[in-house]
Amino acid sequence: MKRKFSRISARQMRKLPKGQIHEHLDCSLDPRYMLTRWYERGFENATIRFPKSVVLNWQAAQELRSARNRKGNGELIEKLEKRAARTYQNWLARFASKSLANYVQAVVDHVLPIMQDSIALYEITRKRIQDAVEDGHIFLELRFAPQLHTMGGLTLDQVMDAVVEAVKESPIPVKLIVCSLRHEGDKAVMKHNPVADLVDLAIRYMPYVGGFDLAADEHKYPGVLDWWLPEAERARKAGLKLTIHLWETDEPTATDLERLNEAGICRIGHGDRGDCQGDRVLEVCPTSNVVTGQYPSFAEHPVDRFYRAGKRVTVNTDGTLFTRTDLTGEYLRLQKYFGWGLRDFYTVNVTALEATSFDEATKARLRAKLDEVYLAPRA
Ligand SMILES: [Zn+2]
Repeated sequence: MKRKFSRISARQMRKLPKGQIHEHLDCSLDPRYMLTRWYERGFENATIRFPKSVVLNWQAAQELRSARNRKGNGELIEKLEKRAARTYQNWLARFASKSLANYVQAVVDHVLPIMQDSIALYEITRKRIQDAVEDGHIFLELRFAPQLHTMGGLTLDQVMDAVVEAVKESPIPVKLIVCSLRHEGDKAVMKHNPVADLVDLAIRYMPYVGGFDLAADEHKYPGVLDWWLPEAERARKAGLKLTIHLWETDEPTATDLERLNEAGICRIGHGDRGDCQGDRVLEVCPTSNVVTGQYPSFAEHPVDRFYRAGKRVTVNTDGTLFTRTDLTGEYLRLQKYFGWGLRDFYTVNVTALEATSFDEATKARLRAKLDEVYLAPRA
């Protein structure tokens, strides 16, 4: 008997064409790659200590690699490295999800130190794009804050060059979003507010860069910040799409709405609080919100309520390292907890695609791919 709704298996879900518009490069590293780089730097140089078992498994694998008679050890090396990477990711994710302070500390102490040279930036971006392709992505907007990658002596342009190099080689359309950070306008914290430099940089690297964002601690520096707005408007006038991390941890205010309208900001990063997002595109990241403690469980996340109320919902991962999810994982949960099916996945993908900064020809080509798979008559 033919059922009206057939369950989509994990394998089928992975193959479905999809795209996302909210993903942070520095929250999406491959843990195995991280261990490779930390091994070169010395595990003992990490401010937060690595778990012993991670170090031991990884070192054992490297000893086998360098052994004179390494023939036949391939499988064991693979097993040890995979085990170390899995343990490392679980440990990092548990540490980061304890509090926002821990989350930031994990990024600062374990991620950023290995993202300070051109080779690493290129390799990390390339790997992220490869993983996205395996996850079924047919388009991706990837964001990062270039100013966090100049501690090893790279200039902002050298940072961009390394990341753009990987984007140029991408098999799928990828656009970059440059993030300025909420604390950068705080004179007590920053000697220099780089927002103007970042807008200049983003404009200089168009069309590889398609958007401009405001990220970091919303609770400490809440709302649509007034020092950010004029520069964001300059970015928009130059042709960049604006997006802002907002209403992830804090409720919307009347001032936020007024400022968003004035500046013509039509994309909200997260936007999972309140009910007054209007017709703005919401870059919803359900598992990420659960990991950071905004919601007790996926089943209690408002994504489905927003979607059914007709809000312009898109589904994103925010990152894959600390969330231990990918877009396939998010879709499987949406199916499991809210009964989403092909039609729903099609809708959120079309919304995401329309909100991207790709040119019209690219959008039309990608739209045709979505139509072909999701709207095809099924036997
Ligand atoms: Zn984010």
